[in-house]
Amino acid sequence: MRMFKAELLAKKAVSPNVIEFTYSRPLNFNYLPGQYISIVVDKITNRSYSLNSPPLNSETISSLVDISPGGKGTTYLKKMAVGGLITFKGPYGHMILPDKLDTYKNLNFIATGTGICPFISIISHLEGADFTGKINLLYSEKYQNDLLGLSNLKIDNIAISLTREEVKGYNYGRVTAYLKKLPREKALFFICGNTRMLLEVIKLLKRDGVKDSKVIYESFYY
Ligand SMILES: Cc1cc2nc3c(=O)[nH]c(=O)nc-3n(C[C@H](O)[C@H](O)[C@H](O)COP(=O)(O)OP(=O)(O)OC[C@H]3O[C@@H](n4cnc5c(N)ncnc54)[C@H](O)[C@@H]3O)c2cc1C
Repeated sequence: MRMFKAELLAKKAVSPNVIEFTYSRPLNFNYLPGQYISIVVDKITNRSYSLNSPPLNSETISSLVDISPGGKGTTYLKKMAVGGLITFKGPYGHMILPDKLDTYKNLNFIATGTGICPFISIISHLEGADFTGKINLLYSEKYQNDLLGLSNLKIDNIAISLTREEVKGYNYGRVTAYLKKLPREKALFFICGNTRMLLEVIKLLKRDGVKDSKVIYESFYY
């Protein structure tokens, strides 16, 4: 896999724990919506970050990073000043749109936390594609303040849930409680977030008769 260098152009706090990092897009760096890059942190450490930027017509690339883990990767990024350079490899990842998009009536996205990041890229990209089906999203965060902005995205059906507080206008509880809301007709499911949630959602979908081939997922951490 090729190595690229990119300059950090902007750092913007988008929620109490999440920073959006925007980088210059290296020449010849191409990727598909939903893919991620692997940033070189030191000689023995790399960390993966999904791109939330849509790949077409963009001179920059960006990612949404939850800096709360405070390990090597997030400390490295937190300390990096605008103008600094990152080295990365990529793109990686199979959580991408299928070739025959028009065979689907529903694209169902299920995300927790920064698991929404690759879906922002995919959903933004779909606006320029001729997909005539519905885009449906289940998205969950712990608190209302953690919610990442989705107002620029065209989403047909959206159910946002908070797991640690009850707030008017939002569902309360985990995404698994709202799975039944997602349409099943000619549906493709995308799931992204922590492993525990992924396994639970996959189990429930399977129980409902959804075929493995109709579920695409990426785990960010256990
Ligand atoms: C394919 C892939 C794509 C990813 N994309 C993103 C992304 O777009 N945005 C993003 O913020 N992270 C993303 N991650 C997670 C990221 O790679 C790092 O694991 C994370 O930033 C923590 O790195 P660290 O070195 O600071 O902490 P580590 O020392 O690696 O981890 C410390 C602890 O934090 C937990 N942890 C890791 N990530 C999170 C998180 N997001 N929320 C809560 N706890 C966590 C780990 O399970 C571990 O227990 C992705 C991971 C993978 C595998």
